[in-house]
Amino acid sequence: MSWTDPRAEIEALTDRLREIRHDLHRHPELGFEEVRTQALVRAWLEERGYQPRNCAETGLVADLHPHSEGPTIALRADLDCLPMQENTDLPYRSVHQGRAHKCGHDGHTAILLGVADILARHRESVRGNIRLLFQPAEEGVRGGGAKVMVEEGALAGVREIYGLHNWPAFPKGELRVQVGPMLAQVHMLSITIRGKGGHGSQPQLCRDPIVAGAHLVSALQTVVSRGLGYAGGAVVSITQFTAGTTHNVIPDVARLKGTIRTFEPSTTERVLERVREVIGGTAATFAVDIDLQIEIGYPVTMNDASCVETVVRVGAAVLGRERVSNAGLPLAGGEDFAYFAQAVPAAYFFLGARRGDEDTPVCHHPDFDFDDDLIPTGVAMFLGIVRDRLAALT
Ligand SMILES: [Zn+2]
Ligand SMILES: [Zn+2]
Repeated sequence: MSWTDPRAEIEALTDRLREIRHDLHRHPELGFEEVRTQALVRAWLEERGYQPRNCAETGLVADLHPHSEGPTIALRADLDCLPMQENTDLPYRSVHQGRAHKCGHDGHTAILLGVADILARHRESVRGNIRLLFQPAEEGVRGGGAKVMVEEGALAGVREIYGLHNWPAFPKGELRVQVGPMLAQVHMLSITIRGKGGHGSQPQLCRDPIVAGAHLVSALQTVVSRGLGYAGGAVVSITQFTAGTTHNVIPDVARLKGTIRTFEPSTTERVLERVREVIGGTAATFAVDIDLQIEIGYPVTMNDASCVETVVRVGAAVLGRERVSNAGLPLAGGEDFAYFAQAVPAAYFFLGARRGDEDTPVCHHPDFDFDDDLIPTGVAMFLGIVRDRLAALT
């Protein structure tokens, strides 16, 4: 067996990896609570001669050659689940109420365990170091495990990092990647409108925060359509509007929540400027006070040109050149892989998972399940990438 053509080894390992994926799926854990998952990953790594160290509470970092003088290439998998209910009758459905692997991080973890296994078998023939990052807390709940890992030095000495995500909106067997922005900068908005409540029959004595809020929601639709020109490049969505308690009371307060997605700092600035102007104008028009709180979420996930070249080259070998493209990119989702990509050259790519013409449930849908067919593909991609990069750098 040679690590230059690991296809037979990947095939032989796939059943075992599928079992592990199902076990992880059955026992999902939220961000920074991945205690069982961490123990499972640690045991797997230690059995194969790694000396993993804890990072970011419930994450792990493991080096193939901890004392190598050569370059270090990092690979990342995310460990956490979502705070939502599983809606499937899978034999391995979640045993926990309100927790489920609905983004496929169970699959990503199984893929990196497969990579760890095959690399360990060929440890002596691999020149340079490969660092495996098992990252907690990608989802936004108490998110940002990647940021904590970077702060704790997980990328010390790393030349490049690679990460992948399954994506059921893209056809199965396809890989999507591009240079530059892959995923969006996220801002979270919380808006509080304070007016003056009163009797529903006497609006003239009130300053109605609901009417102000309704206008504000409409006016915010123009931030992109009238504020950015033909190129656009942003999403502004109001996703929550709460006010009032009954049919005959005008309330004092209305609350809105929403999200802004952008791909470039200049667009972000322009969007935030327009949001503030629209809010100021609405407050004046309706004689209400409007407070805006902006929470800054994950930055743009930016792919490096030479790392993307590698992914494209390896993707062409694994899947066929015609199945590798940048169609549908960037996505307006957010990813904390962005923090890794800010620290070192990086490439993040999607493996399509849509089955035929079927309406395959997307990530974060209650019916979603990771497609196990992606396990061998993911392992082959990661192994191909590190082989390609170490050959070029050593
Ligand atoms: Zn997710
Ligand atoms: Zn995810």
